[in-house]
Amino acid sequence: MPGADAARTGATVTRLALASLTTLKVGGEAEVWTCETDAAVRDATRADFRVLGGGSNLLVGDGGVPERVVRLGRAYADARALDATGDAWLGAALPLPGLVRRARQLGLSGLEGVLGIPAQLGGAVVMNAGTRFGEIGDTLQEVELMLDGRVERVPAADLGLGYRRSALPPGAVVLRARLRLTPSTPERVARAEEAVDAARRGQPKARSAGCAFKNPPGDAAGRLIDAAGLKGLRVGGAMIAHEHANFVVNLGDATAAHVVELLENVRAAVAVPLEVEWRRWGLAGGEPAARGWDRPRAEPRSATAGG
Ligand SMILES: Cc1cc2nc3c(=O)[nH]c(=O)nc-3n(C[C@H](O)[C@H](O)[C@H](O)COP(=O)(O)OP(=O)(O)OC[C@H]3O[C@@H](n4cnc5c(N)ncnc54)[C@H](O)[C@@H]3O)c2cc1C
Repeated sequence: MPGADAARTGATVTRLALASLTTLKVGGEAEVWTCETDAAVRDATRADFRVLGGGSNLLVGDGGVPERVVRLGRAYADARALDATGDAWLGAALPLPGLVRRARQLGLSGLEGVLGIPAQLGGAVVMNAGTRFGEIGDTLQEVELMLDGRVERVPAADLGLGYRRSALPPGAVVLRARLRLTPSTPERVARAEEAVDAARRGQPKARSAGCAFKNPPGDAAGRLIDAAGLKGLRVGGAMIAHEHANFVVNLGDATAAHVVELLENVRAAVAVPLEVEWRRWGLAGGEPAARGWDRPRAEPRSATAGG
């Protein structure tokens, strides 16, 4: 039983339905390690694991996952290190909405483009979250990672940030990120946010995980799904939103099986191949778990392979 050791290093271990930790509110159970110290993260990542951020880009299967799910706790969610200089190391569990608000209050520019994204800072780095108005990578200088049981600093330029992607080494846990924002005024920042806010107004308010499909080259997935007449298409409690065709909403009683079937129906009805944007756990073709650093290995692996 991991409990005693976990408590010693600053982790709590609970069996939880991942539906309660994701914005789409579907998904079965896992052993969730909530870590308040780097030592706890090190301990939690000894055995095979997955890292959970805000759960806002995640579809978890109804059977949950057998591996540990590692979350960073409140100790990694303090925005106070951000001061008027705009240069700060911030914990990876910091919710982006609060960070954006603090930056505006301090009159710091650079995060306007990520307004309204319900991610944690670490998850935003991993997905290079953003909009056409800007992305987290624009302000990112450096990250601190737990990798193979060791803490490492990696400059942003070495993270392979691209359109909604990064190439962090497999098994890396983002612990902290250093952002550099530009001093401006609260009024100017608020004005810049208006355009981002206006672009978001058409998005559904119901439970979702953001855009379900990546935009294919030269087109928008939402436009294609809408053109195929699929708004309102339903499987059980999962539905293509009326407000935005690239959003799947949970009407209250959706299961992962409903969502998967709905995605398949959309793909079958749209002529252009659509790739699912969400990370998927415990589902065919989904994201593999990271290997625990303490697990015996059959052969050495590269620490720099793309992720
Ligand atoms: C209503 C809504 C609107 C959205 N709008 C946008 C948008 O405009 N632009 C956009 O880019 N996205 C958007 N999203 C999607 C989502 O917010 C982003 O993809 C975000 O980056 C996911 O961050 P998260 O913390 O929720 O990560 P999670 O969903 O928890 O995880 C995503 C991936 O990151 C990994 N991960 C998370 N935290 C860490 C960490 N600390 N260390 C290592 N790996 C980690 C996970 O293992 C997983 O592979 C939206 C989602 C919703 C629900």
